[in-house]
Amino acid sequence: MRCDIISIFPEYLEPLNLSLPGQAQRKGLLEVAVHDLRDFAHDRHRTVDDTPYGGGAGMVMKPQPWWEALEHVRGLGEGTPTLIVPGPGGEVLTQKVARELADEPWMIFACGRYEGIDERVYEAAAEVMPVRVISLGDYVLNGGEVAVLAMIEAAARLLPGFMGNAESLVEESHEDGLLEYPVYTKPASWREREVPPVLLSGDHAKVAAWRHEQRLERTAARRPDLLHASAALAGTDLVPQA
Ligand code: SAM
Repeated sequence: MRCDIISIFPEYLEPLNLSLPGQAQRKGLLEVAVHDLRDFAHDRHRTVDDTPYGGGAGMVMKPQPWWEALEHVRGLGEGTPTLIVPGPGGEVLTQKVARELADEPWMIFACGRYEGIDERVYEAAAEVMPVRVISLGDYVLNGGEVAVLAMIEAAARLLPGFMGNAESLVEESHEDGLLEYPVYTKPASWREREVPPVLLSGDHAKVAAWRHEQRLERTAARRPDLLHASAALAGTDLVPQA
């Protein structure tokens, strides 16, 4: 999976060189290149923003540096990349979307700042490559960089070979629409709190049944909005009546 990221703060993306994403890069599973948008501005101050037409607060990112940056990056690889633009007005990043991103061989991420990027950049880009606007959630960040870190991490950990133990992906929250069961480690007793005895029983079937029940209860308690969508809950009395 190749990820080209365009930002006015390239240093913001440095965590991608750490931990598992860093290892994935060294293993050749993930290729990351970060490009400074200001390299595509031509004035002395390397300006990338201007005042909004129609008035209003804040600044808008100019189309010219964005287009030159996108054309430059698009020329660096083979085939057609998908342009991912983080934005609070996009489809929300879910595990399903992360899986779709993990299937993309090449993505360009365009990190907006200020009030966002001139709309004509989206229109022009859509004529030459697929464009997806993706939101981290229903709140507003200062820029797209944090969202891109989340998107790449969520997608890259689904790549075969990324996780040391691929099994840890199987029962994770959101894989089948349910949240994960509670987890415990040693010691069995801590501050007078005991690990649930079933987990010490050695009975794998009982452990599996307990974990499944915990997933259902936890999802019902914390994320009732997920219940209707979850096939795992169909027909159980945990699904509230509409
Ligand atoms: N004026 C824009 C609006 O109201 O939709 C918000 C602009 S925000 C201050 C600047 C940039 O942060 C956006 O262009 C986008 O790249 C990023 N951003 C903000 N919130 C985001 C979110 N929830 N998900 C993904 N990116 C976000």
